[in-house]
Amino acid sequence: MDSDFNNDKRNQKREELKTFFYKTKDCRECDLHKTRINFVFGSGNSSAPVIFVGEAPGKNEDLQGKPFVGQAGRLLDELLATIGFKRDDIFIANVLKCRPPENRDPNINEINTCKKYLFSQIEIIDPLIVCTLGRYSTQLILDTSTGINKLRGRVFRISDRLIVPINHPAAALYTPSRMQILKDDFKKVRDLLDNYQNPESITQVDEIQVQPQQGNGNKSMDSKEANDRETPESSDDKQLGLF
Ligand code: SF4
Repeated sequence: MDSDFNNDKRNQKREELKTFFYKTKDCRECDLHKTRINFVFGSGNSSAPVIFVGEAPGKNEDLQGKPFVGQAGRLLDELLATIGFKRDDIFIANVLKCRPPENRDPNINEINTCKKYLFSQIEIIDPLIVCTLGRYSTQLILDTSTGINKLRGRVFRISDRLIVPINHPAAALYTPSRMQILKDDFKKVRDLLDNYQNPESITQVDEIQVQPQQGNGNKSMDSKEANDRETPESSDDKQLGLF
């Protein structure tokens, strides 16, 4: 009975996420649509207990329409393997769904325009943990201007959800001394997840309360607008890698 219920819930989330993808993939709300090759929605398990959130698609991601491919993606796969995860087990997304030209930093207008998509993804998947990779996703989710170096190593709680800021894997590609820190932080994600059913055993949560932002936790107008758009009749959902 319980298993049927879980399967139904999983199928419902998968369909909801897929529908959301088709309704948002032609977004032209900021100038990045002019230079993108692909809208990079994110991919993975629609019932994932953990969502990893990066910054924006790079060249390879833009070419393939998938998040975290290339060198940083391979490193992410290795780090996931150290804690017993495959991509199929988790969901990966970015703050921006389109590549900034020449991989420049996202600007504030782009983030403010695009963030509703990430918030809706989190709302649909409803993970126990959001692991933010690097400065942009961390500052967005925690609604802070504090730098990643001061936030990494701490665990935050928004409602029932834990937020775990860690460095972006690309940082370890350029600074190998950061690799052990990254491995330790991935292990922390695993430990938190393993203890989640017993919250009292999670003793190191930073109890700073962060107010959920608009669209993060509630059905937002922006998400509704996206859902009101026309759904294409034909589709190719390989890009989503949904399980
Ligand atoms: S970056 Fe986001 S807001 Fe801008 S065009 Fe792409 S999907 Fe739309």
